[in-house]
Amino acid sequence: MGKTRLQAQRAPGKILYSFSTPQQRGRETLYVNSVGNYACINSCRFCGRKAAMEGRPNIYEKKAGGNLYLPRAPLAEDILPLAKERIRKRMPDEIVFVGLGEPLLNFPAVCDSIRGLRAFGYSGEISLNTNGAVARWGNMPAQLKGAGLDSVRISVNAVNNVEYNKLCRPKDKDAFLRVCRFLQECAKCGIEVFASFVVGFEEGKIKTKPFRHYRAFALMLGVELPNILRREYVPPTEELQ
Ligand code: SF4
Repeated sequence: MGKTRLQAQRAPGKILYSFSTPQQRGRETLYVNSVGNYACINSCRFCGRKAAMEGRPNIYEKKAGGNLYLPRAPLAEDILPLAKERIRKRMPDEIVFVGLGEPLLNFPAVCDSIRGLRAFGYSGEISLNTNGAVARWGNMPAQLKGAGLDSVRISVNAVNNVEYNKLCRPKDKDAFLRVCRFLQECAKCGIEVFASFVVGFEEGKIKTKPFRHYRAFALMLGVELPNILRREYVPPTEELQ
């Protein structure tokens, strides 16, 4: 996706940020913004990325405490010095590679950064949030595991290709098959898999399913029950209140 005039004028945003949620129960998570230009291969109907791209207030940048717009995808050379400095000051319990967009579009840098963190001696949990639909660099789960990834949270959001295409509008109409394959390959490599599903979204005739359908599907894919995550859709305006 090309840059808007607004994006071209923006100062580069944060690569690292932290915030805590009640679910974390005192655990400290360091987030690594791994995506340039808010890039993604999907255009999910429920995604708040559009607001960020238009420079409007959005929940992601509100939580991060600042702009997350990066004019280009960060390299490991950009991420690692910042992360090491942060670890030296205060050791996070967990480091999560995320984006306002899709981190695996920047797969080589994500993999190199994970490897670099392990070489530096970071022994906490390393995780990744992804849509699981990118397939450009061979056996990505095996490479991520080899680099030192512990867990992955995959936005599955559907139970079949037709529903996925309607809700998530991927560029490639076979994307859902790749999401399921990626999930199963991660599990096979020994990466702990979490599967998340947005519920409560409705736009005209397109609606998310009741959570029990998603839970049954995720169990069929082999995801452990406690790792099946329900994400209640909250309209962007309510999220910001
Ligand atoms: S996969 Fe994630 S970042 Fe991409 S459009 Fe969907 S919700 Fe937004």
